[in-house]
Amino acid sequence: MKKDYYDVLGIGKSASPDDIKKAYRGKAKQYHPDMNRDNKQEAAEKFKEVSEAYEVLIDPQKRQLYDQYGHDGVSQTFKGGGFTWDDFTHFDDLQDILGNLFGGSIFEDVFGFTGRSRGQQRARKGGDIHVILKVSLEEIANSAKKQFKINRYEGCSSCGGKGGTDFAACSQCGGRGQVRTQSRSFFGTFTSVSPCPSCKGSGQVIKTPCSKCGATGRIRKSRTIEIKTPRGVANGQYIVLRGEGHYGQGGKGSIIVQFEEKPHEYFERQGYNLYIRMFTPYSKLIGGGSIEVPSLNGKQERIKVSKGSSAPEIIRVKGKGMPRPDGGHGDLFVELDLKPLKSTDRNLGKIIDELKRYEGEPTPRPRAK
Ligand SMILES: [Zn+2]
Ligand SMILES: [Zn+2]
Repeated sequence: MKKDYYDVLGIGKSASPDDIKKAYRGKAKQYHPDMNRDNKQEAAEKFKEVSEAYEVLIDPQKRQLYDQYGHDGVSQTFKGGGFTWDDFTHFDDLQDILGNLFGGSIFEDVFGFTGRSRGQQRARKGGDIHVILKVSLEEIANSAKKQFKINRYEGCSSCGGKGGTDFAACSQCGGRGQVRTQSRSFFGTFTSVSPCPSCKGSGQVIKTPCSKCGATGRIRKSRTIEIKTPRGVANGQYIVLRGEGHYGQGGKGSIIVQFEEKPHEYFERQGYNLYIRMFTPYSKLIGGGSIEVPSLNGKQERIKVSKGSSAPEIIRVKGKGMPRPDGGHGDLFVELDLKPLKSTDRNLGKIIDELKRYEGEPTPRPRAK
C-alpha cells in the first residue's frame, strides 16, 4: 500500500505551499544519503519518497488530482506510470535547500542521476500569479463570467524577450553556463556545480542591451482576465490558467485562481445541498398550500406545504440544490419557520381570542426519532 503524500511529509491536508516547502526542507535534510552513510540505500529510498510527495503537493494541479483521485490520479502524470527522478522538476528548490550544505553534485553521485543536463542551466520560468476571486452562490450556480485585473510581466516585443539583440559567449564560464568548485566538508570532498554568476547560467552575455525593457526581456503590463466560474465550484477550490502568468525566458508561469464563496443572504450551502428558512404564516401551516421560495436562477421555486404542517419542519426538494460539476444537482431543504405576527389591529385581537378556544394549552413536543 502506497503511503499518503501528506503523511510522507508529515503535514495536514490544508498545508500551504510554504508549509510544504518547509516540511520538504526538513525531510530532505534528514534523509539525505550523505547524512546516512550507514544505511545509504534505505535513506536514498526515503529521500526519493519525500521528493515524490513534494513534486505532487507543490504543484497545484497535481495536488488537486491527488486530493480528488489519490495515487491513481497522479501516477499518470509520471512518464513511466510511477515516479522516477526523471519526473522530478524541482531540482532548483533542492539545490536551494541542500546547496549550502552539500554542494550540488549529489544526484550523479548517489542516484546515478543522468536524466537532465545540469550543465546548461535552463532559463528561468516566469512566476505564477495567485488570485483570490470572490463569487456569489448565484455566480457559482450559473457559471457566471468573472473579470479580474492583474499586473504581469510579458515578453518584450522589441527584443523578443531576450533582453538584447546581440550576444557573445560569457567569458567567465567560457559559454558553458556553469562553474565547478571543490569544497571540503565533514563527509569528504564534493564537487559542486553551480550556475555561472556572471551570465546566470545562460552561457551568453548581452552585447547590445534592449533599451525598451532595460535588458530584462520583460515588461510589466496591466491586464483584465475573464473566466467562467466553474459550475458548482466550492470554497477554496482553484483553477490553473497555464501560460497566463509572468513571462520568463524558460516559459510563462500560470495564474492560479482560487475561489472564495460569498455568504448568501438566505441560502446556506453544505456540499451540493442548499438550505433556506422560510417564515411561513400560521394560516399556511394549518391550511396547507404552496409557497414561493427564492432560487439561485432568479426565478421563484413553488413548494407544496401539506395541510396541518408544524414549525419547524423541513421539506426536502430533490434536485433543486447546487449544480454539480457532473451535470446533476444536490437537493434543496426548506425549513418552515413560524412567521412572527406583528399588528395592533383590534380585529386581530378578536381572531386570536377565537383561536385560543381551539388551540388549548401548550404541550411538550415529542423528540424526533
Ligand atoms: Zn526588450
Ligand atoms: Zn557565464
